[in-house]
Amino acid sequence: MKENTVPADPLKRSARREEICRIFGESYDRARWNDWRWQMHHRFIKPEQFKQLLRLTGAERRGLAMSQEKFAVAVTPHFAELIDPNDPSCPIRLQVVPREEELLVGPGDMTDPCGEDHDSPMPGLVHRYPDRVLLLALDTCAAYCRYCTRSRLVSQGGLDPLPRRVDAIVAYLEQHTEVRDVLLSGGDPLLMSDDRLDDLLGRLSAIPHIEFLRIGSRVPSFLPQRVTPELVAVLRKHRVWLSLHFCHAREITPEVARACDLLADGGIPLGSQTVLLRGVNDDVQTLKDLFHALLRVRVRPYYLYQCDPVVGTGHLRTSVHRGMELMNGLRGHTTGYAVPTYVIDAPGGGGKVPIQAETILDYQNGHVSLRNWAGQAYSYVDPAEHA
Ligand code: SF4
Repeated sequence: MKENTVPADPLKRSARREEICRIFGESYDRARWNDWRWQMHHRFIKPEQFKQLLRLTGAERRGLAMSQEKFAVAVTPHFAELIDPNDPSCPIRLQVVPREEELLVGPGDMTDPCGEDHDSPMPGLVHRYPDRVLLLALDTCAAYCRYCTRSRLVSQGGLDPLPRRVDAIVAYLEQHTEVRDVLLSGGDPLLMSDDRLDDLLGRLSAIPHIEFLRIGSRVPSFLPQRVTPELVAVLRKHRVWLSLHFCHAREITPEVARACDLLADGGIPLGSQTVLLRGVNDDVQTLKDLFHALLRVRVRPYYLYQCDPVVGTGHLRTSVHRGMELMNGLRGHTTGYAVPTYVIDAPGGGGKVPIQAETILDYQNGHVSLRNWAGQAYSYVDPAEHA
């Protein structure tokens, strides 16, 4: 059986941890490092801290200087450890260290690309589809992805704390009997304490027509120490499904493997969403490595997202054409479970659209001409009544 994780030299890892802890005036202590609250209290948030962590480029220095006003920066020590301090094109670094290109506004860029604000009956609740809602429990995350589709909200401190909003949210859901599915998502719901999360999930589960609770979280990648047996017990109690978020195989560390094992052993269904990012994962082998690593820790790659056209993310986005090429390089070339659905969240609120047109060569009079992974053509004929 293959190792679950990307190989890591333990000696090198503890030396780097010493360096990281020294930036905060502390020495490395394994127990403290593995405490998620210690990790949260020792996040990299200030330019001076990043200057000690990495050999910064001019674009990064300027990005860090302006980011405090635009979209906050935060990186957990756990995630900081994965960054190559000498490589500005490190795929982990590109995800969380701002660059001055974030100031550029390209054609088609939007502050709310998914059109969520338009479908929001109250702050922190999005009700677009009749049977499901998105609930934003918090507006903070363990670290901030530079391509975040909700950068207008997360880290901005604009959402009232949940205790002030929860009664109104529950009352709304009780009245809307058509809602059967609630997705709690970023800011990251797994940053709530076990008790508070248990309370929220309990109130939602108690609504008779709510039958499905999902949480979208990047905590297992940014802060795997947060995944404890107590947290897993809360998630299991409320029969929650988890959508995780990973962009590169280097994120699947021994700590992440342990967290995913705890969740999977606890019976929590695990899927992963990956955002396609230029320089991070826009080649077939990198995506394959990631998806294979996820399967090894029992996480099913679910969606590969075309990066949303959020203002200031042009430098991180690829073309749709490139995304289609990558999917062609995956489909049929690896285990089917390792191939997610490639989707665009249609800008302006059109919802997720799977991009599969490249496999349909022609479709006329009930005859579909399909291209398989090897580039060969096959036909499928519709049933007679549809031809
Ligand atoms: S974890 Fe999600 S919500 Fe938080 S910054 Fe990243 S993409 Fe945005």
